[in-house]
Amino acid sequence: MRAREAGAPLRIALLGCGAVGSQVARLLGEQAADLAARAGGPLEIAGIAVRRPELARISGVDGALLTGDAAALAARPDVDIVVELIGGIEPARSLVLAALDSGRSVVTANKALLASDGAALHKAASANGADLYYEAAVAGAIPLLRALRESLAGDTVRRVLGIVNGTTNFILDQMDSVGSDFGPALTQAQQLGYAEADPTADVQGHDAAAKAAILAGLAFHTEVTSADVFTEGITGITADDIASARALGFVIKLLAICERCDGGVSVRVHPAMLPRVHPLAAVHEAYNAVFVEAEAAGRLMFYGAGAGGQPTASAVLGDLVAVARNLRAGMRGPEPATYAELPVVPMAEALTRYYVSLDVADRPGVLAPVAESFARRGVSIKAVHQEGRGEDATLIIVTHTARESALADTIADLAAMDAVRAVDSVLRVEGEEGE
Ligand code: NAP
Repeated sequence: MRAREAGAPLRIALLGCGAVGSQVARLLGEQAADLAARAGGPLEIAGIAVRRPELARISGVDGALLTGDAAALAARPDVDIVVELIGGIEPARSLVLAALDSGRSVVTANKALLASDGAALHKAASANGADLYYEAAVAGAIPLLRALRESLAGDTVRRVLGIVNGTTNFILDQMDSVGSDFGPALTQAQQLGYAEADPTADVQGHDAAAKAAILAGLAFHTEVTSADVFTEGITGITADDIASARALGFVIKLLAICERCDGGVSVRVHPAMLPRVHPLAAVHEAYNAVFVEAEAAGRLMFYGAGAGGQPTASAVLGDLVAVARNLRAGMRGPEPATYAELPVVPMAEALTRYYVSLDVADRPGVLAPVAESFARRGVSIKAVHQEGRGEDATLIIVTHTARESALADTIADLAAMDAVRAVDSVLRVEGEEGE
């Protein structure tokens, strides 16, 4: 790699000028002098690619920079760095691969692309002596990936537990604080701009799964894709679940959980009950927070704005300065290592605790066969709570740590019992026992 001349401008192709790209363009202009001082020379926008170049953009962005041809812009000989802020898989993948293949370093915020094609992109970066930075892809402004990739490079990470999707945290927080059901809470999130018109990727857990794959890969030095991540969203969470959780001293959060376990790593995204005293229980509204447990460092907590144009642009600009410094020094930044090659264990093998809510006949002798079903499958009960409602009763059971497959077998047994009218709800419980 050739070092760039000291003090000479580095030229940026900005692909995408939406919520994030427009803020990157604005801050590159407004903070030009400071960024030049930190990056060792000016960072200049060579051009901005958008889908509709005819539309007016935010003030301060020169209209003459706009083009509808992202591929031609990224391939221009005067471009040193490509910043991809289009999102989605195509054309982002082709654009990023072409840039890396031509030896240009890339900064992107594209979690979907990294979680599906991360290995191929890293390979292209490595083969061509280019950098690939993507701090903004997980938890927006929170400096988390660099912490995993660099600060914790000397430690062994055991577990990463996080709230990495602001939309679902806002909805669950709303359900918890005002007692509303999922539908009205989603509508409110949409009205306030926290949820998209099509909220599928957020509420079904796919956005969090892409982030979990990236986090697990960096934490455990192993290739993980979003297809490896067990994913369950929050659409099935009811106001009754939230109220029961509250009564037991828990809160329900959508968690991304990446942990070392016997035989490999477990990577999953699902709603879970957390004790109200757990640090993640205090994460409200659309904020993100990630809890990292490492052998030597112990427990670390990262907290902040997980999305939004300006916070996300902060992470993109941090990457841009790092890439610019590397280019001027004629070197590459640290590459994530995937030497460990740990298998991702199936969800059936996962170990966690469970909350089970049953609609049962309110008559003597119901509890014994229910308890016997748990015992037969080797699932140990920690607490039982029964509430009568005339002829019916709600029976709530919280278990000790058990294997997912054993719990699933227990639920199938319970559903077939005469005394059990319905299995109302099954939720996983996270946070250490006794916390
Ligand atoms: P956005 O507001 O939808 O903007 C996308 C931009 O890409 C628009 O300017 C669009 O042009 C342009 N574009 C779309 N297709 C194109 C094409 N074929 N060629 C050239 N330009 C094209 O998206 P965003 O919210 O800024 O997100 C950008 C990236 O950041 C995504 O990967 C996202 O996951 C990630 N991210 C976003 C946030 C956030 O809070 N928004 C947070 C973290 C990460 P037009 O303007 O003409 O439509």
